[in-house]
Amino acid sequence: MDRKPVAMGVGVVAVVMLVCGATVGLPMLMFGQADAEAAACEVPSLPGSSPVPGAGRWDSVATTNAATIVAVGQQRQVPPRGYVIALATAMQESTLRNLANAKVPESLALPHEGVGRDHDSVGLFQQRPGWGSVRERMTPTYAAGKFYEALVKVDGWQQMRLTDAAQAVQRSGLPEAYQKWEGDAEQLAALVLGLPDIDDIGGGAPIAPCGVDDLGPVPVGPGGWVQPIRAPVNSGFGQRGRNFHAGVDMSKADVRGDAIRAASTGVVEQVKCDWYTTCDRDGHTRARGCGWYVDIRHPGNIVTRYCHMIQRPEVTIGQQVTAGMVIGFVGNSGGSSGPHLHFEVHLNVPPGPFHASRDNAVDPVPFMRAQGVPLGPAA
Ligand SMILES: [Zn+2]
Repeated sequence: MDRKPVAMGVGVVAVVMLVCGATVGLPMLMFGQADAEAAACEVPSLPGSSPVPGAGRWDSVATTNAATIVAVGQQRQVPPRGYVIALATAMQESTLRNLANAKVPESLALPHEGVGRDHDSVGLFQQRPGWGSVRERMTPTYAAGKFYEALVKVDGWQQMRLTDAAQAVQRSGLPEAYQKWEGDAEQLAALVLGLPDIDDIGGGAPIAPCGVDDLGPVPVGPGGWVQPIRAPVNSGFGQRGRNFHAGVDMSKADVRGDAIRAASTGVVEQVKCDWYTTCDRDGHTRARGCGWYVDIRHPGNIVTRYCHMIQRPEVTIGQQVTAGMVIGFVGNSGGSSGPHLHFEVHLNVPPGPFHASRDNAVDPVPFMRAQGVPLGPAA
């Protein structure tokens, strides 16, 4: 909880920001540069479009294939972690070349960028006949599409080690072999997206047009998680006097009205104002509860909770959200002594609403650190 005094004018300013800042003003304020916003809104190059210059150890052929793989992922609205897994897989299988196979005569008659001889595998992902015809498997957009199709069916793929997720799709004889490409794949994904760093990949729907839902890029960790807000943790998880604090409180100067983002992809399980409090006004320490809050269920029976929002959240129960999507704005509703986000993480939550409790709450600080997105300030 944060007891910093709040000047009278701040609330008014924040509300104005919410209304007119939703499209342009807010990202400019948050990131201070127009090009960050432009990067998030850039339309990806379409599969099969003109060649891309080489990058690092990857020549123009490989980098063009990488751009195709990423673009197919964007079209299918796969979260960014998926592009990295797909690239690492194709790096291992074919060094990002559309390979024919010396033992598959038909493949040699089709356009190819090299010749392999592993069983009857062809193409960027070295897919075998079960994945499609020779011609299909040697069409990069088809091959990448089939890879993503299988990847997103793997339960919990965004939380897995890269090589485990890739192996769940590929069933290779060398299950560890994909892991060594993770760094290269992250760099190449960022490069073909025109971003300086993989962490700058927007967490919202990858092909969302610029607009109300798109407040600019947010850092997405390698596991597909993002910070719900960028602010320090002022009050930690655990026993607090006679009460148990089942989450962390995050706040900073002028945090009121800041966007709160879904920490990872999932389904909205709860949108609620606690019945015993009044949510469309500031709470106080004698009030109880979360005020306006949202619960999101992520793959693997993980639930995250976001409390004390300023107004009715921006999402509805049952809605699918992607990592980084704006779900509401920081406020001070419910049992709260100042504008902040109270953020909870629950593990092994049985299916169905209302099962996130203090018994399955874990400390969000180590949890988020393990996802590659430590909670904390970004100045
Ligand atoms: Zn709290």
